[in-house]
Amino acid sequence: MIKFHPNEELLVQYVQGNLDSALAVVVGTHIDMCQHCAQQKKDIEDHLSAKAFGAATDFNELSMQTMLDEIMNSSAPAIEVPHKVNKHVVVEGKQFRLPPSLARVSKRLGEWSKVPGSVWRAPLQIDNDSAINLIYMGAGASVPEHTHRSQEATLVLNGTFIDEHDRYHDGDFVFLNADHRHSPQTAEEDCLTLAWLDAPLQFTSGMARLLNPFSSLFFK
Ligand SMILES: [Zn+2]
Repeated sequence: MIKFHPNEELLVQYVQGNLDSALAVVVGTHIDMCQHCAQQKKDIEDHLSAKAFGAATDFNELSMQTMLDEIMNSSAPAIEVPHKVNKHVVVEGKQFRLPPSLARVSKRLGEWSKVPGSVWRAPLQIDNDSAINLIYMGAGASVPEHTHRSQEATLVLNGTFIDEHDRYHDGDFVFLNADHRHSPQTAEEDCLTLAWLDAPLQFTSGMARLLNPFSSLFFK
């Protein structure tokens, strides 16, 4: 049972196409996994199109005719050639199924690399200036405590991780801002997550603070 969802504002921005393209992949992947948000997305779409239609009824006949002409004369959208997608990823010998929104961009997944603490990451470049990371934590792994200079979205694709605040399972979407600090870790179960950051992490405790100048190497 999914406990953490994107808030309504994020879903509205997603439907309107206003989100950073990498964050949109994370939200879209959550929607693939979450019936509740899939329904909410549909409700928002219905609401927005009803509003747009309401506005259209104010048009005078002439502009309506112009609009119809434009629609009739517009060329058909280019047919997208279906390209092969990776429906799975393999890390540390384990195979994970990718939800459709993620599978669609999986060709852009980079190489896995190991970071300290039984954590692996693979970058996924969405466009020129935005990327996300697949992060795999083996059982008993931990990421040093950190805050964020701005925002972080994490989606659990498979498994469980815990922090000071809660336990997060498949489909949980966690959105944190600069006011939050946490140290994610796994217990007996491993965990694959999708993570979006709009600035590098800021490590806060002990030796991990020494990593700060390099934190961009880890997660962005
Ligand atoms: Zn949801």
